[in-house]
Amino acid sequence: MKWSGKNRLKMGYAGETLDVDRFFSDLSCWVDSQSVWQLNWLNQEDPRSRIPVVTAGNWRESGIYISAGIHGDEPAGSLACLDFLQNFQVPSGFSAICLPLLNPSGMRLGTRENDRGHDMNREFLAEISDEIRALKAHISDEAQFRLAVFLHEDWESQGFYLYELFRNESALRYGEQLLNYLQSIHGEAIPIDRSPVIDGRDAENGLISGRIADHLERPDWPEAFFINSRFCEVTYTLESPSDLDLTPRIHLLSLALRYLIDQVQEN
Ligand SMILES: [Zn+2]
Repeated sequence: MKWSGKNRLKMGYAGETLDVDRFFSDLSCWVDSQSVWQLNWLNQEDPRSRIPVVTAGNWRESGIYISAGIHGDEPAGSLACLDFLQNFQVPSGFSAICLPLLNPSGMRLGTRENDRGHDMNREFLAEISDEIRALKAHISDEAQFRLAVFLHEDWESQGFYLYELFRNESALRYGEQLLNYLQSIHGEAIPIDRSPVIDGRDAENGLISGRIADHLERPDWPEAFFINSRFCEVTYTLESPSDLDLTPRIHLLSLALRYLIDQVQEN
């Protein structure tokens, strides 16, 4: 593990960037090479902002929801989705929707916001950007997800952490287990952020856990609020520390995603 210190100097993400055209071409080539996952595109009217959607099975009925790259300065999440898609052994009856790059225009610029300057992860009520309108319309009201995972990165953090959001106390939750698992498997490459307060919220050993009902008055809904309140009992927002090298961040996010999927598949 080696902190570069570059993010702090820049006061923002200063690491490796993602080549969006190459990413799309790698994704398309891989989809063409197999028969389980299909690739479609949302928001096609704007070539800078078209969004790839990769699905398996009847994803609106108890599928798994995965998204990444809503912030264009967080490349590891998108690459972790590709790694996951390429390496996950799909069990029979499995269904999922994976949105590996929700903000392609921002990813091209290396900015958190899209190329119109909007942080799309604050617009799930207001629907300012076409990308978010297209995504919300695509999910449709009847969908139900068994699990939803949002892959993010934090340029300031001193380790991995996650937000666990749930509707009811009784829901099965895996956040704490996941952090223990990652520590045991991957702890030398990327540590857990054990700060008592992360991003202004109380945290315990990398876990920020809370009831969705306590947050819904906030007007600037992130994707997690929208998906959790309407479609999924428990959701996870994973945050890798982006001052570390890209490769272990990709590996960590992909490993965490697979772990959560394994847990819900077993229960
Ligand atoms: Zn983010």
